[in-house]
Amino acid sequence: MTDRTEALQSRLAQQDPALAGLLDREVERQETSLTLIASENHCSQAVRAACASVLTDKYAEGYPGARYYGGCAVADEVENLAKERAVQLFQGMDHANVQPHSGTTANLTVLTALAGKDGKILGMSLQDGGHLSHGHKVSHTGKVFEVQQYGVNHDTGLLDYDAIREQAKSYKPDVVIAGASSYPRELDYEAFASIAKEVGAYLLADIAHPAGLIAGGVIPSPVGHADVLTMTTHKTMRGPRGGLILCTEEIRKKIDSSVFPGGQGGPLMHQIAGKAVAFGEALTPEFKTYQQQVVDNARLFAEMLSDRGMRTVTGGTDTHMVVVDLRDTDATGADVEERCFDAGISLNKNMVPNDPRSPKVTSGIRVGTAAATTRGMGKDEFARLATIIADIVEGGDPKTKRNEVHEICSAFPLP
Ligand SMILES: *Cc1c(COP(=O)(O)O)cnc(C)c1O
Repeated sequence: MTDRTEALQSRLAQQDPALAGLLDREVERQETSLTLIASENHCSQAVRAACASVLTDKYAEGYPGARYYGGCAVADEVENLAKERAVQLFQGMDHANVQPHSGTTANLTVLTALAGKDGKILGMSLQDGGHLSHGHKVSHTGKVFEVQQYGVNHDTGLLDYDAIREQAKSYKPDVVIAGASSYPRELDYEAFASIAKEVGAYLLADIAHPAGLIAGGVIPSPVGHADVLTMTTHKTMRGPRGGLILCTEEIRKKIDSSVFPGGQGGPLMHQIAGKAVAFGEALTPEFKTYQQQVVDNARLFAEMLSDRGMRTVTGGTDTHMVVVDLRDTDATGADVEERCFDAGISLNKNMVPNDPRSPKVTSGIRVGTAAATTRGMGKDEFARLATIIADIVEGGDPKTKRNEVHEICSAFPLP
């Protein structure tokens, strides 16, 4: 911990021991257990210091140079720094909006800007790996817009671009969304762009999950193909919790006014400061090395599981994510999630394509390598973890694995 955060923490412990005690418990939980949740990561101490800064006190409604409050000189520079770094990371996009509070908010504001009320959107269904905010009926995006959804081929687990093209040609959406929460493969952004172009739609690439891999240059980028990118800053991007939008000059004004005043009030300047720090980190060569290790670890993990006779959706991975298909085993996704928890591993149950079970039970688990790789874990550790998880799936007692997981964790401290 930096001196500054240490001082802040002891202040908190004095004033509010109840809350400080809860934070201690969370530190302990993160330290002694292993996060294989694909959407989580551990950001740096520098990022956390920025997020814990006095900027949380500052109202800065508007944009740099055009605020509705005084005293925004520093806030302006912070936001401009975050924007400049974001545009440098995704070179080829003209403009960044760093204000979205989350990935969901970013999607809702982009779709509102580009499709408009009652406009038509085409996104991937949640059941097949998409995200709620791509038009699911319980999301505002499923209520405000007209929606059609595409899925994956149920035999291969892969997207069928010809089928998506046919669907787009008959539906004629205003916005096509390319992106997923649970799809372990690269997306063909060129194919998505040609589909969107053919039907006169905007292409939104939601790279919430693979943003860090794309920024690190280890998987193909939608830049040059998509009109707009949305993402979270806290998954593979390894920044603070938040959202980010990048777009072309042509739609810059629409996007900015949809974020503020359309969808949000004052920006969270402390989070934006954290984003600036994280984008700075992402511009370093170390970040590329980290992202390559994330992918190498996921590949090895998938191979080890298939050597044990287990099935993975799409037969492997190109990314940080492996989706294990448990239909050949006696276990459900919910069973394995709970047993892994007992062993000190957090991961989540996940639907597999054409899943016969309900979303609360599921026939799969999703594993992500980003957080554990941040702790410094490499091939040796992921090989051990694959063995542990395969044993657990096959009915091994999770309690007997607890010590081994604990031992691995204590050798790799949190940042
Ligand atoms: C995680 C995710 C989001 C939403 O992010 P939040 O910050 O939780 O709102 C949006 N889209 C996709 C594809 C995601 O995986």
